[in-house]
Amino acid sequence: MSMTAPLHIAGAPRAGHGSAFERRNPSDVRDVVAAGHAASADDVAAAVDAAASAVPGWRRAPGRAALLHAWGDAIAARSEELAQLIAREVGKPIGEARGEVGRAVVICRYYAGEAVREIGEVIPAGSPETTQFTLRDPLGPVALITPWNFPLAIPLWKAAPALAFGNTVILKPSEMAPAVAAVLAETSVAAGLPAGVFNVVQGAGETGAALVAHDGVRGISFTGSAAVGARIQAEGARRNVRTQAEMGGKNVVIVLPDADLDLAARLTAAGAFRFAGQKCTATSRAVVHHEVMAPFLERLAEATRGLPHGPVTDPGAAIGPLVSAAALERVQGALASPPPVAFEHPVPAGEPWSHGHWCAPVAYRIEDPAHPVARDELFAPVLAVLEAGTLDEAIGLANDTRYGLSASLFTRDLVAAFRYVREIEVGLVRVNGDTTGVDPHAPFGGLKGSSSGSREQGRAAREFYTDIRTIQIHA
Ligand code: NAP
Repeated sequence: MSMTAPLHIAGAPRAGHGSAFERRNPSDVRDVVAAGHAASADDVAAAVDAAASAVPGWRRAPGRAALLHAWGDAIAARSEELAQLIAREVGKPIGEARGEVGRAVVICRYYAGEAVREIGEVIPAGSPETTQFTLRDPLGPVALITPWNFPLAIPLWKAAPALAFGNTVILKPSEMAPAVAAVLAETSVAAGLPAGVFNVVQGAGETGAALVAHDGVRGISFTGSAAVGARIQAEGARRNVRTQAEMGGKNVVIVLPDADLDLAARLTAAGAFRFAGQKCTATSRAVVHHEVMAPFLERLAEATRGLPHGPVTDPGAAIGPLVSAAALERVQGALASPPPVAFEHPVPAGEPWSHGHWCAPVAYRIEDPAHPVARDELFAPVLAVLEAGTLDEAIGLANDTRYGLSASLFTRDLVAAFRYVREIEVGLVRVNGDTTGVDPHAPFGGLKGSSSGSREQGRAAREFYTDIRTIQIHA
């Protein structure tokens, strides 16, 4: 059943005045999930005005913690509906979609707590008559530009800290996830958030561009591709507006000869192929010691065959479709002259598969680390397998990328593990774990081309969403 996905401005739904859009289920495109109209430039301006008008009442509102708790409750009350929408709208298998809703609730509750923590510190002053302290103040209205792959969790891991620290929000969700954003707006009303504190403008890239260029926006938090992130950062720099960008990854596992190969294979298959590899932290490279290459690949192929393709609302599904026909075309183009295949897990033929954007999980043996399959973020169930003879060589190959988001080393050797922790160039460093997944109360972000600006999530988020003033009182 299709729903209307309106804008949300000043506490109420509103039809957009821009172009019409329609969103279909990527697992079965006969299913129309949502339709609506994008925000026009005037709609964007109205949303920024609403957010600006709400700042004075919100920046020091004592009830922010209770309202964030209530928001978590309102989301929890609609959890199954939201999970089904996430599955149908972006093609995330329902089990993971339910997990995302649970995480969204935890994020609200965590930041409800952050909303009542200290907002400054007392610092010794140069003279005994002076008391010196800092105060953290909100930035004002902030623009949140989000991707489609975590359509509930990412808007919330930006909006919840923004609101907790006294900012107001204008969210521009992905054009591929309008329905989830519309329901999120409804839950903000159910929770009792004051009008104008949380606004949503639907639309594609041009809506986002109009939003980040608006003079009333005082902070920009972006998650998405490196190419769009670069453009948004340039716009932030032009207007001297604080900007953070969380971008892509070419995440890697390293498998040493002493590794638990069953564990390494299971977690590599999950990291590379669940949700069709469409997570920023998905495993897209495996650097394997030559002594264990053959047994590791055998186990990896078996673990991959254990991950069912599935229409996304099927509880057994592990590997969904790609998000769009354009994404499938892009990936097919990138694999037009493929390297040797290590193994493949074909998509079943016929109904209902012929109606979705399905892409078979595949692992390639790569000799040349400069091969595009080993270099570019494909955002698909594609794994590049490279061989190394030593730990140094493995770490060198792992670091040979412009990205630096997530990595995992499989070993039982403590010395090797500590060497890797020191030398690996990523923000999320794992040993004997999956490259994906993160606790919402821990800082999240990458190095090199993966991130720019301060970290998201956990306490780290307040660095982005607050300004510090230093106060001296001579008395
Ligand atoms: P994307 O194409 O870069 O889009 C991200 C958001 O930016 C969307 O809302 C998009 O709108 C908007 N946008 C596009 N052009 C814009 C412009 N000129 N000005 C302002 N906004 C603009 O990324 P995506 O395909 O949605 O998501 C996949 C990417 O996100 C991957 O690279 C993945 O690694 C990355 N990602 C990173 C993280 C992380 O935390 N590091 C987490 C998840 C995903 P429309 O899409 O509606 O056009």
